[in-house]
Amino acid sequence: MKIAAAVFHRTVHLGEAQLYPPDPKCLFCGSTNRTAFYTLQKDPDVLLLKCNHCFAESASRLPTEQAMKDYYSNYYNEDAVKETKDRVACYHTAQFGDYLARKVIKHFPPSDSFEVLDFGGGDGAIALRMAQRLLERSFKSITITVVDYNEYLAQSDDARIRLVNCPTLDQLPAKKFDFIIASAVIEHIPNPKPVIDRLSSLLNLKGVAYFRTPYIEPFLKLSKLLHITIDFTYPAHIHDLGADFWEGSMVRLLYPQEFSVLESNPSFVETTFKDNFLRTLAAYILKAPWYLIGNGYKWVGSWEIFYRKIG
Ligand SMILES: [Zn+2]
Repeated sequence: MKIAAAVFHRTVHLGEAQLYPPDPKCLFCGSTNRTAFYTLQKDPDVLLLKCNHCFAESASRLPTEQAMKDYYSNYYNEDAVKETKDRVACYHTAQFGDYLARKVIKHFPPSDSFEVLDFGGGDGAIALRMAQRLLERSFKSITITVVDYNEYLAQSDDARIRLVNCPTLDQLPAKKFDFIIASAVIEHIPNPKPVIDRLSSLLNLKGVAYFRTPYIEPFLKLSKLLHITIDFTYPAHIHDLGADFWEGSMVRLLYPQEFSVLESNPSFVETTFKDNFLRTLAAYILKAPWYLIGNGYKWVGSWEIFYRKIG
C-alpha cells in the first residue's frame, strides 16, 4: 500500500552517482546530533534524520544538481502541466489567495505601494488573487515579484497590480519587500539555510514572511509500525518541518534577533471538498484536535507560520 505525501510529486530512486556523499551536519543549524528515524530509499541508503538541536528533519544525502535538474524537467513536462492550469502546486488558488489577503489585512495597515515577493510561487496566481483582494481594502498599488524558474506569469488586468518574474533570489533588483510568501518551497531546497538568510535580508523591518512546509513525522513513524510505505516524494521533498522547528528553533536558535512569531498553526488545507472530498475531509479531521490540544498534537500533515521582521 502506498500513500503519496504530496499531490504533485513522486519519489524516484537515486543511484550513487546522483547523490552527494552524506554530510553529518544539520542543514539548518550545523549540529551533528541527529537521529535517523525513517528510510527514504535503500541501496544506496538515504535516511531521514531529525536534528536534536533545532528539530529540523532532512534527508541524510542530497541529490546532485544534475539529479534535481533531471527530476524537475520530467516533473514539469509530464504531470504538473497536465494537472493544473495555474501551474502552482495548490488546488484552489482563489481560496488560498483570499486567505493570505486576510492575513495581510490583519498584520498591515493599507499601503500606497505594497511590495510582495512570492518565492517559488509558480506563475504568481495566488499572490495575484491576494493582491486583488487587497485593492478592495484600500491598498493602492501592489508589485508582486515572483521568483521561480517557471517563466510563465499570471496576467493582471488591473494596472494597479504589477507582476514581474525573476528566476533566482540572487538576480533580484536591490529592493526590499513588505510580504514574502514561501509556501511549499523550503522543503524542496537542498541547502535551505542560505535561502532563509537571504529571504530575511530581503524583508523590510516590520515586514512579514510566510512559510508553509509539510510535517509528516508521526505518519512516517506509524507507517513503519504498520508496514505501510508512505511516499515522502524524495528528492522533491528533502525536509520535514513542524512546529518545534518553525515556532521554536527559528526564533530561539537561528534568528532570535530577526523574527518574532505572529501566527503559527497547522497549515491551510490545500485541497477543497469539490476537488478531492476524501483527502480534504481527512485533512480537516486530522488538523482539528490541534485546536484543542495545541502543539502537543503532531498529526497535522503540514505547518505554517507568519513571522514579523523585528531587527
Ligand atoms: Zn539542526
